[in-house]
Amino acid sequence: MKAPPTFDLLGIGLGPSNLSLAALVAPLRELSVKFCESKKAFAWHPELMFSDATMQTSYLKDLVTPVDPTNPHSFLNYLVKKGRFYHFVNTDRKTVSRLEYEDYARWVSEELRPHIDFDSPVLSIEHRQDHFHVSKKDGEYTAKNLCLATGPQPCVPDCAKTFLGPEVFHAKSPHLTSCRMAGKRVLIVGGGQTGVEVFRNALKEKWGRARSLQLITGRENLRPLEEGPFVDEIYTPNFVEKFHGLSQESKDEFTAKLLLTSDGNTPGYLQAFYEELYLDRFYQKQFTDYSISPLRWLKKVEKKSSSYRVTLFNKLEEKSEELEADLIVLATGLRTQLPPLLDRLKEKIVFDEENRPLVDLHYRLRADLGPNHIYVMNFSRHGHGIADPQTSLMAYRSAVIANSLLGARRFEVAQAPLFLDFFHQETQHANLPNPLLYPLQCQRLCAGKARNPDLHWSRGEEERSH
Ligand SMILES: Cc1cc2nc3c(=O)[nH]c(=O)nc-3n(C[C@H](O)[C@H](O)[C@H](O)COP(=O)(O)OP(=O)(O)OC[C@H]3O[C@@H](n4cnc5c(N)ncnc54)[C@H](O)[C@@H]3O)c2cc1C
Repeated sequence: MKAPPTFDLLGIGLGPSNLSLAALVAPLRELSVKFCESKKAFAWHPELMFSDATMQTSYLKDLVTPVDPTNPHSFLNYLVKKGRFYHFVNTDRKTVSRLEYEDYARWVSEELRPHIDFDSPVLSIEHRQDHFHVSKKDGEYTAKNLCLATGPQPCVPDCAKTFLGPEVFHAKSPHLTSCRMAGKRVLIVGGGQTGVEVFRNALKEKWGRARSLQLITGRENLRPLEEGPFVDEIYTPNFVEKFHGLSQESKDEFTAKLLLTSDGNTPGYLQAFYEELYLDRFYQKQFTDYSISPLRWLKKVEKKSSSYRVTLFNKLEEKSEELEADLIVLATGLRTQLPPLLDRLKEKIVFDEENRPLVDLHYRLRADLGPNHIYVMNFSRHGHGIADPQTSLMAYRSAVIANSLLGARRFEVAQAPLFLDFFHQETQHANLPNPLLYPLQCQRLCAGKARNPDLHWSRGEEERSH
């Protein structure tokens, strides 16, 4: 029997995370790489692709620019190649719409087509004889290293789980794409960006004219994203590298406090939405009957012939409320969890007390896999901090992984020190490059530091001992 093809790196899942890695490593002659994706072509959260939705991240933080601005897969090159550069500049924006971002990413995926298998879900992984053996829908591969970026999964409140289907569903599900709201009492649960986007589009009758629309959120309000130059220092490589070395207790506490820097609503989106509500209430008077209810927690869902009785808890008045709904859309967030396809390797992987995998500074799972590694993207918010699931540091993560695979600092990830001094000076210099792994880089950095004490060299090439 013919042996399956072998790669230095096999990427599993091709969302923005692995696409960024593919854009950096595919042109390198030293590495043989392949990326497998379930979908038939590149698509970015297609269920949640609304024409009014914008990115929360600058287009300069694209798939490659932060670590390799000369890479041909940049957003700016996309604009040039598509003949839209001047038009784009005339729009004078810092962020682009999600439609544009998806089109850019699709263009990159087409450029990298020989390295990508679409319509090729990976089903299981085994590790033997210093290789991963990967079975997929359409065949088998072996690989020395994997990079898992299969994305987060919908988070569904327990009380709604038994009713999941075409009438009660998570927003990130095909049921949203095919749903009909006409004549129905619709409840949208969740006041983060997705909940507000679904509600706003429902008001504009994207899925037909609902009989009524109610949005509930456990938060105190439709809270805006917390952002600004100082807040955004947390979304930098320097911060992530130091943060990684903190105690788990500090990391969990700090990450919880920073939630709204990541999970808040885009301020411009809220502003435009409020203006629409104002114009409609006082002038156009076209929206269906609606309400937006903060401080409400979903407590119970019961099936009642053709509809659902829903019990909420009003946290402000501390009392229960009831309502009837025909359709319930759960915009209740996403959670990261290693996918079942890793089940056979689970006993080799190190987990913390809360069953979260330990991920080192190179984005490798801590695991007993001999010379082979499983790199992961978007699975280490508990380890690398609030920026981990974001596109902000996507190119940086890919560069760290590429450098680790190559055993050399091919992509520059070090940056000047931050303005905010989060960490004690001694820890600032705790992560010197490992001289065994990177002797030349070490010599150069040490010489550079002697000349220039401001040189930032915190990129931790040395694996921490946990
Ligand atoms: C609607 C939405 C908007 C967002 N907007 C922003 C933003 O503006 N800025 C920001 O910083 N972050 C944003 N995020 C957060 C984050 O950047 C995105 O979730 C991003 O898509 C994460 O990329 P990913 O590649 O890790 O995962 P995903 O985009 O989820 O991609 C995972 C891919 O893996 C594939 N896959 C899964 N299992 C398998 C398998 N077994 N075999 C093969 N393929 C598989 C899936 O089909 C999918 O294509 C947003 C998230 C959402 C949900």
